[in-house]
Amino acid sequence: MLLLKCFVPRASFPLLRYPLQDAGHRFFSMTRTPDLEVDNVVIGGGVVGLAIAEMLTRNRPQETTILVEKNKRLGEETSSRNSEVIHAGIYYPKDSLKTQLCIQGNRQLYALLEKTTIPYNKIGKWVVAQSPEQHEYLQQLSAKATSLGVETYFIDGEKAMSMEPELKAYSVLVSPTTGILDSHSFMDYLEQKIIDQGGDIALNTCIQHIRRGDNGGYYLKVEDESNNKITVWAQQRVFNAAGLHAHHLSNDLMPNKYKLYYARGHYYAYNAPSSIRHLIYPCPEKNLAGLGTHLTLDMANKIKFGPDVQYVDNPFDYSLPLENDHKMAFVRAIQSYLPNVNPDKLQPDYAGIRPKLAGPGEPFQDFIIKEEKEDGFDGFYSLIGIESPGLTSSLAIANYIHQLMEN
Ligand SMILES: Cc1cc2nc3c(=O)[nH]c(=O)nc-3n(C[C@H](O)[C@H](O)[C@H](O)COP(=O)(O)OP(=O)(O)OC[C@H]3O[C@@H](n4cnc5c(N)ncnc54)[C@H](O)[C@@H]3O)c2cc1C
Repeated sequence: MLLLKCFVPRASFPLLRYPLQDAGHRFFSMTRTPDLEVDNVVIGGGVVGLAIAEMLTRNRPQETTILVEKNKRLGEETSSRNSEVIHAGIYYPKDSLKTQLCIQGNRQLYALLEKTTIPYNKIGKWVVAQSPEQHEYLQQLSAKATSLGVETYFIDGEKAMSMEPELKAYSVLVSPTTGILDSHSFMDYLEQKIIDQGGDIALNTCIQHIRRGDNGGYYLKVEDESNNKITVWAQQRVFNAAGLHAHHLSNDLMPNKYKLYYARGHYYAYNAPSSIRHLIYPCPEKNLAGLGTHLTLDMANKIKFGPDVQYVDNPFDYSLPLENDHKMAFVRAIQSYLPNVNPDKLQPDYAGIRPKLAGPGEPFQDFIIKEEKEDGFDGFYSLIGIESPGLTSSLAIANYIHQLMEN
């Protein structure tokens, strides 16, 4: 039996932030009888798991739902180590889930942001061509965007450089529906909705093992911070939104079905005054391993550059590059569109790790979001390879899961 190991720093936090006893569930000591019975278990308290748990507690208030997160806080992994960009959905193959869910997610997210106090800014993105060849690529991108119903328009290099004087550009494709948001406030909002709608959230609690229940549903072996082991019976459904670790959990039921690669992306903070007012992206890379070393602004108008793409073996290794060579490669990438960037003002800031279905140099891979019916696991939903644009798509992913459940 594979025992999934959770590498979580042990801290003195309660097993359950919202004790399950309070929600009226049965809570036994460790016996062969499950310690806890619920209808739905969502594994993973990143933005995707939170969106799914919010959808479940809203649409199915008569069912019991618990979200289980191995870390002591929600959203500590990929969901808080990204660019916080609300993408428009124009980069990916037309018929992919990434395109469909990003476009829907973008619209759903703005509709939500408009009626809440979550900080956001529909700041717009400039994708910059440096040559006629790149311009041609952006023309194709623009045509695709139009066919998808996503607004884009061109400005010529001269006009672009008068509007953003630090920029070097042959032409610019503008995506006015791209923006930025405070992802932490967004996750706080989802957490509060889950609680208000009657759901439970267990922190510092790791799902280690999953098996089919004899009477239906799934038995989950769960370990808390004090190494206490309990068994949870998810009577109806399990949603595996475990991000970088999701393949291990699905493979526990379906051995060797999924493989994930880890691609770390580093960010540099830019601590110099700048007049830049838009998100600036270079022409995208060929296999879409990443969108190129771009310039992002945060809600405080602070500039950061990144992320690059570096395949790593360890999904827990967020170490930052210290070598000057790494920084100079970044500087060269940035100088292609901001020639006067000052290398001395660039400081390594943070890193995030993409859960990737495509290995180095391999072609595009779509999100995998499915109920594992074909393998005989009805009611078990796998979400694998939820890299960018997963933050933008989160609400649409939850909607998509809702549709899968209804069908
Ligand atoms: C460098 C980078 C930049 C990005 N930029 C953007 C962007 O600008 N816009 C955008 O839309 N997207 C972006 N993304 C993608 C986006 O961040 C992710 O798609 C999204 O955060 C994925 O959320 P998630 O909930 O699936 O995963 P996660 O945030 O990784 O959450 C999974 C959770 O599951 C928990 N977990 C794992 N195993 C277990 C277990 N056994 N038991 C209990 N809990 C478990 C983990 O602790 C974790 O908290 C970026 C990603 C990266 C890496």
